[in-house]
Amino acid sequence: MRSGDHQVDDLVARARDGESRAVARLISLVEDESPLLREVMGALSPHVGHAHVVGLTGAPGVGKSTTTSALVRELRARGARVGVLAIDPSSPFSGGALLGDRIRMSDHATDAGVYIRSMAARGHLGGLSWSTPQAIRVLDAAGFDVVLVETVGVGQSEVEVASRADTTVVLLAPGMGDGIQAAKAGILEIGDVYAVNKADRDGASKVTRDLRGMLRMAERPEGAWRPPVLSLAAQNGTGLDELAGALDQHREWLASSGELARRRTRRAREEIEAIAVARLRSRWEAVDEGGRLDELAAGVAQGSADPYGAADALLGSAG
Ligand code: GDP
Repeated sequence: MRSGDHQVDDLVARARDGESRAVARLISLVEDESPLLREVMGALSPHVGHAHVVGLTGAPGVGKSTTTSALVRELRARGARVGVLAIDPSSPFSGGALLGDRIRMSDHATDAGVYIRSMAARGHLGGLSWSTPQAIRVLDAAGFDVVLVETVGVGQSEVEVASRADTTVVLLAPGMGDGIQAAKAGILEIGDVYAVNKADRDGASKVTRDLRGMLRMAERPEGAWRPPVLSLAAQNGTGLDELAGALDQHREWLASSGELARRRTRRAREEIEAIAVARLRSRWEAVDEGGRLDELAAGVAQGSADPYGAADALLGSAG
């Protein structure tokens, strides 16, 4: 794509008109760390803030992709346009291949009100903490009412997802050592809505009971949101109405309590930091032809320099 305001404005306008190819192109610019991004983000800025950003997280196998697909169907039935980002921090692959396996694309492939995209960490300077918020921004500005961010793959990414979403849904299922896992992963702190999937299986009601018990012990100030624990059988389409309802209720609470603005400011802060850190790194990498960082590292490893002095030297040479 050629540079210039006109092309960027045109692309943004087409994305806002609901043209999937324009949305795809904008997200590719994010993935490719295009020099045009600065212009793109400037053009998107006036149009963001409408979408409800929902993070969906949980251990592999609990039914995240099944739930995503079923929830998209439910939200579509309610008239919402839905964008989905399937984030895989553990995979170098991006684009369609992974996605075909993960999300039942065919269910929504012909629906212009749905856009689904997978993103992987690849070689980004700032990794997913850099690219995910910008991809969310694209979908938000393109007019999607709900942006679902699903984390796929294994990793310590639950907390990261939560920090990017307005509402975090934590999914559990029976038969996965849930109670202890949940407590270990710090999952009790991050969920705004909990859903125990595979309600058709033995043990689901025990997971629900245990989880409710654990959540009750958490101290919450007056007026705080109390995360509901819902029962779900995503595969059979059961419980999706309640899940969509809980998302709406949480969205309303966020707005009326002032928490929405707080969360979004926090998210913007992380976004700014990720961009600034990536920029700093690219600066010293630009002047690192002589392997300055390796040299400094060798010095620190051998004890002839300390890491603070080395960092000063690195930043100094980066200007
Ligand atoms: P993910 O790894 O968390 O994305 O989980 P998937 O959505 O791929 O689901 C993992 C497995 O659980 C698949 O075999 C699904 O068919 C199955 N599954 C998903 N939802 C349900 C459910 O409601 N009931 C039952 N019995 N199985 C389910």
